[in-house]
Amino acid sequence: MSSIIIGIDAVKNSIRNVPNFPKEGIQFKDVSTAFKDQQIFKYIVTELRNKYIACGITKVVGIESRGFILGSILAGELEAGFVPIRKPGKLPSETFVQSYDLEYGSDSLEIHTDALDGDDVVLIHDDLLATGGTVNAAVDLVRKFGVTKIYVNFFVELDFLCGRERIAKDINVWSLIHY
Ligand code: AMP
Repeated sequence: MSSIIIGIDAVKNSIRNVPNFPKEGIQFKDVSTAFKDQQIFKYIVTELRNKYIACGITKVVGIESRGFILGSILAGELEAGFVPIRKPGKLPSETFVQSYDLEYGSDSLEIHTDALDGDDVVLIHDDLLATGGTVNAAVDLVRKFGVTKIYVNFFVELDFLCGRERIAKDINVWSLIHY
């Protein structure tokens, strides 16, 4: 069996750009083309694990839906619990709700009111940072529990949209791939 050396450029090249999806003017970064490759997927998981293994993370919070893919695997790698943040009406029990603006539209997010404790060390994960509206809503939801140690991670960050500048300065933000 042949094997190739995977590096950050190979990961970046494996992400498919889809112009004008889901609407005109959006350059959609399709991460499924990276995740379907076993060696690339393994490389991504290893990089994320190595970044956070010493941080004492107790809960990984994944944002629906693409944030569930790496988020849940990362929770397993870090021996942390996994908590979903979901779109409205999906969670069955009592929730906190937070509205936010998207690169294309607006929406709200929910988390179960018993999902976290104030002493949790939380890693919020999503597939991509664009304008930062989604992750800021997730941060606001996590803060409702009194959590003070919050890390934020993205697989992909669109630097030109400056979403990082909208995230509170006390939060450690890290992305594997930048455009
Ligand atoms: P934002 O709230 O603007 O940071 O948007 C981030 C969320 O929208 C993430 O959950 C992404 O999955 C999705 N998203 C926004 N823009 C894009 C894009 N250009 N390509 C892929 N996903 C995107």
